Amino acid sequence: MNVVTTKKELIKHIHEYKTKQKSIGFVPTMGYLHEGHIKLLEEARKVNDIVVLSIFVNPLQFGPNEDFDSYPRNPKRDEELARQAGADLLFLPSVTEMYPEKPSYTVTVLSRVNVLCGKSREGHFDGVATVLTKLFNLIKPDRAYFGMKDAQQVAVVDGLIQEFHFPIELVPVATVREEDGLAKSSRNVYLSELERKQAPAIYRSLLAAKEKIAHGERDKEKIKTTISLTISKETDGMIDYVEILSYPGLEEINSICGKIIIAVAVKFTKARLIDNITIEV
Ligand code: AMP
Repeated sequence: MNVVTTKKELIKHIHEYKTKQKSIGFVPTMGYLHEGHIKLLEEARKVNDIVVLSIFVNPLQFGPNEDFDSYPRNPKRDEELARQAGADLLFLPSVTEMYPEKPSYTVTVLSRVNVLCGKSREGHFDGVATVLTKLFNLIKPDRAYFGMKDAQQVAVVDGLIQEFHFPIELVPVATVREEDGLAKSSRNVYLSELERKQAPAIYRSLLAAKEKIAHGERDKEKIKTTISLTISKETDGMIDYVEILSYPGLEEINSICGKIIIAVAVKFTKARLIDNITIEV
């Protein structure tokens, strides 16, 4: 596996792959790798000649009161895990390598962002879309892999690829979970022991909602209330949102039909956890 930190070195490798007509699968991450990230690498490994992993904690997608400085980082361990997972190229840029001191251009996302995390994290998806535009242009992947754990991100990237005509296939990958159902996340390390025990209730509440829908429940508000009650009863977390929307359009729906997402965000003392399920009704 080659490890590069500059655009210049990255471009050199990409040029070589392109000259040899190798297909490129790209996995963008913020590092502190866990089995969720590894799953993306494995999926990319299956169908591409070359797998490129980027690790970049992108300041543009963090709000002023968010955890940019304290976001967990461990580049040495990440490098080892990336090697084991069969990545060919690891791109580890610094902030100054990715952004000039005063950026003159950023991407603004106008749709699919006024709900869920976009509502409470203003500018977050502009930051995501801006860094991905840069990375897509540098890496020129044939396929890009994103986890459904961040389903709104998948929806936004889907829009970005379509509207900016990136010749890239978006490959969504199912959420990887702990044995007790908690979605794997770099931020899970922030949970206290008690919160860690409580957190699987989030996924349980989503599964219970799915079950209710399977048994014919179609009242959106009733389903949302059941989810909220379960989370409030079984955890000390503060609910940020419980939403049921169309997917990937992320529009309000009056009745439960078609492809929908049930998404939840819960704030614990030091970690804000998100989870979701998508279902076709
Ligand atoms: P992050 O490093 O948190 O920005 O995540 C990088 C990529 O890994 C994103 O596409 C995430 O959706 C994906 N990812 C994070 N956690 C999981 C998980 N538990 N299962 C599947 N994909 C995940």
